Amino acid sequence: MSRDQYTFVNPAELYADIKPEKQHMPEPGLDADLTPKADLGEESYRGTGRLAGRKALITGGDSGIGAATAIAFAREGADVAISYLPEEETDAERIAGILREAGVTVAKLPGDLRDAAYCRSLVDDAVSQLGGLDIVVNNGGKQVYQESLTDLTDEQFDDTFKTNVYAMFWITKAALPHLAPGSAIINTTSIQAYSPAAILVDYASTKATINAFTKGLAAQLAPQGIRVNAVAPGPIWTPLQPSDGQPQEKIEEFGAETPLGRMGQPAELAPAYVFLASAESSYVAGETLNVNGGMPTP
Ligand code: NAD
Ligand code: MG
Repeated sequence: MSRDQYTFVNPAELYADIKPEKQHMPEPGLDADLTPKADLGEESYRGTGRLAGRKALITGGDSGIGAATAIAFAREGADVAISYLPEEETDAERIAGILREAGVTVAKLPGDLRDAAYCRSLVDDAVSQLGGLDIVVNNGGKQVYQESLTDLTDEQFDDTFKTNVYAMFWITKAALPHLAPGSAIINTTSIQAYSPAAILVDYASTKATINAFTKGLAAQLAPQGIRVNAVAPGPIWTPLQPSDGQPQEKIEEFGAETPLGRMGQPAELAPAYVFLASAESSYVAGETLNVNGGMPTP
């Protein structure tokens, strides 16, 4: 029998043989070009009906953590809309094919998250193509390292905040009128929210903002029966990293500093999103679920 996410294995050994070499790709990067390939759970995620009939919008659903989450949601029975940049069409088309194999409705909605008008139409299009909305996963993100604050341009600072923070605000605000009690909003933050790297000042600042936004909004929406939570990944093998998310010399050692001694794979994040989206987490709100190989967080 092949392994699925319920198979007990030594987590320090799982994926430990996946060792990338230096590689650079232009932003936003493609899963198709990642060497070795990331595990999105294509072969391993087994659904058990935990999201049957739910309707989910996932930004950055073409690759990495968002794609693994999309695959898991579809196999748990949810209809799924994915947002991504037009230049990521190859990745999006592959993921959409995997989602369709699960027998659910799939909507592909490309556009630029830095654009408020796109974010609003994204929600409208997801609602009309899926026939409603109960799960919003704000996951699309920009991470470009800069050694010095003097190299961090106003344009990059603005882009990082627009992509990571403003889009979350625009999309969540537009989604609210559609979300019935029982709905879930899940934001993707990062270990960087607590332990900012010297070269990721703009990015880490957006991730701390996402944590605060999540906790404040969770308090605001809990009385309406809408739960808001976050997932905080550690070092995960996705196209974000070799497309200037990290300097090249960090790619080979990526994740070695964690207690588990290795980087994580997107497939290891998906169950966290499934838990926070499902009815099982009915008493969980304003929480940040850290999936980071064991690094201590506040
Ligand atoms: P990824 O590159 O696979 O996903 C990021 C996605 O963001 C892209 O696929 C792209 O579709 C989307 N995106 C970026 N800019 C956009 C724009 N202007 N308009 C529309 N879409 C845009 O990488 P990932 O690592 O899976 O990233 C997903 C989330 O996880 C991000 O929020 C990232 O900050 C977070 N995260 C990643 C790590 C990691 O180590 N990989 C660690 C902590 C947090
Ligand atoms: Mg992508």
